[in-house]
Amino acid sequence: MVDIRSVHKSFGSLEVLKGIDLSVRTGEVTVVLGPSGSGKSTLLRTINHLEKVDRGAISVDGALIGYRRSGDKLHELPEREVLRQRTRIGFVFQNFNLFPHLTVLDNVIEAPVSALKRPRAEAVESAHRLLKRVGLADKADAYPRQLSGGQQQRVAIARALALEPKLLLFDEPTSALDPELVGEVLDVIRDLAHRGTTMIVVTHEIGFAREVADTVVFMDDGRIVEQGPPGEVLERPREERTRLFLSKVL
Ligand code: ATP
Ligand code: MG
Repeated sequence: MVDIRSVHKSFGSLEVLKGIDLSVRTGEVTVVLGPSGSGKSTLLRTINHLEKVDRGAISVDGALIGYRRSGDKLHELPEREVLRQRTRIGFVFQNFNLFPHLTVLDNVIEAPVSALKRPRAEAVESAHRLLKRVGLADKADAYPRQLSGGQQQRVAIARALALEPKLLLFDEPTSALDPELVGEVLDVIRDLAHRGTTMIVVTHEIGFAREVADTVVFMDDGRIVEQGPPGEVLERPREERTRLFLSKVL
């Protein structure tokens, strides 16, 4: 489903991704771990072309992200095409990023109506279904500021799902939450995993990774240090760097 090949990315003279190779199969959950500054967010952002790669290529469902190939040359896609690709890849951020002036319902239907041109009534019906799924059926008319952090993050997940993405990316979805609210958000993500949603989740919730991940990827300093099933990477890491990191977060 996701194929990342030799991806390099620099900001000025700082090389942040130093040759990333990663494959994610349809229906699988990949959890990305690593210290601050190791390039986790940058990697996620390259997958929907919020950051352009300097070298290498990323494809999702066989489609090259951000570029089209002609011969052995890559041409950047026009913005409109990039936006269209992005509608099929859901992104959930650490800080929810809801529209503060819109109700919960309007947050969820915004993209389907404006980007996908879905009829409003249809989008509303589907939004109610998604809000129910994330446990917020009674909050459709509330504004984001009236919700707890955990509730806002669940709205953000419903909003991402409203575009029926083939891939969901989560960047530390629980790290801005009070500890007692983390569980309700992880429950929603776990439910998505059980439904076979393809996801890449950056998180430091090791227990969640152990239980839900098909693959755990440990990044450090712009590289993938090791990757494999959680039982290997988390329980019997091969690399000293991974062991050191795990000893700090566990
Ligand atoms: P964290 O766990 O703190 O979120 P991360 O692993 O997500 O860290 P990134 O946000 O990907 O790390 O950042 C990797 C490096 O790239 C950092 O040194 C960061 O300062 C740098 N960086 C990220 N975005 C930019 C940018 N737009 N311009 C310049 N430098 C950037
Ligand atoms: Mg980050």
